[in-house]
Amino acid sequence: MQSEVICVRCPKGCKVKVAFEGGSVTSVEGYGCLLGREYAVQEVVNPQRIVSTTVRVLKAPYQRLPVRTSRPVPKDKVREVVKALAGVTVEAPVKRGEVIVKNVAGTSVDVIAERDLESEGG
Ligand code: SF4
Repeated sequence: MQSEVICVRCPKGCKVKVAFEGGSVTSVEGYGCLLGREYAVQEVVNPQRIVSTTVRVLKAPYQRLPVRTSRPVPKDKVREVVKALAGVTVEAPVKRGEVIVKNVAGTSVDVIAERDLESEGG
């Protein structure tokens, strides 16, 4: 079998063809650099994504706090991660990089705050 992956690691957007058989990659063609080769193989073998969303925040000037996973999670876990975060509420103040949820959806990946958020009124 063969999959074509458009590399998003740089604006060149190489179309990388990854052939595989029985779970093993047999050939990779069309990449412009090794970074893109690695990306394409990862996309075919075990695609992963950083999940960015928001959670509810109390005692802050805004109602939502932007958060993201500290590392990419398997693509097939993205929906579960978003669902796990839907009911999360935090209280200001929050520091950028602070862990909001540990081991989200059993992925061994933490969810962290994307920004500082002071409590309302300073
Ligand atoms: S393979 Fe390399 S050159 Fe091509 S798009 Fe990806 S990063 Fe850019």
